[in-house]
Amino acid sequence: MSAGRRCAGRLMERDGRSRACPEIIPAGISYCRVHYGQKRAKYGADHRRRRRDYQGRINHAPIKCASCPTMLTGTDWDLGHDDDGQNYVGPQCRPCNRRDGANKLNQR
Ligand SMILES: [Zn+2]
Ligand SMILES: [Zn+2]
Repeated sequence: MSAGRRCAGRLMERDGRSRACPEIIPAGISYCRVHYGQKRAKYGADHRRRRRDYQGRINHAPIKCASCPTMLTGTDWDLGHDDDGQNYVGPQCRPCNRRDGANKLNQR
């Protein structure tokens, strides 16, 4: 088999069509540096928007942590993700967010 594989990202052509990114990347990662940076920037913007949404609600009235009975107030909370890191479980208190992260690492 070939050494390395293709980046999973797409390149946009000027005519609006996309084609597979030709970058060869090492095993174990999915994107070349450019596409990885793009994914992360997108994710970051979405994360900030959701956090701002929840912050507005928390400013109005405390929200319960997604994983325990702690009521979240002020800005002392984190936006938690599910095990895949793809979906948001909602706001979590800091101890829950850290514990979940540690569990995920231990499972892998
Ligand atoms: Zn790429
Ligand atoms: Zn909690």
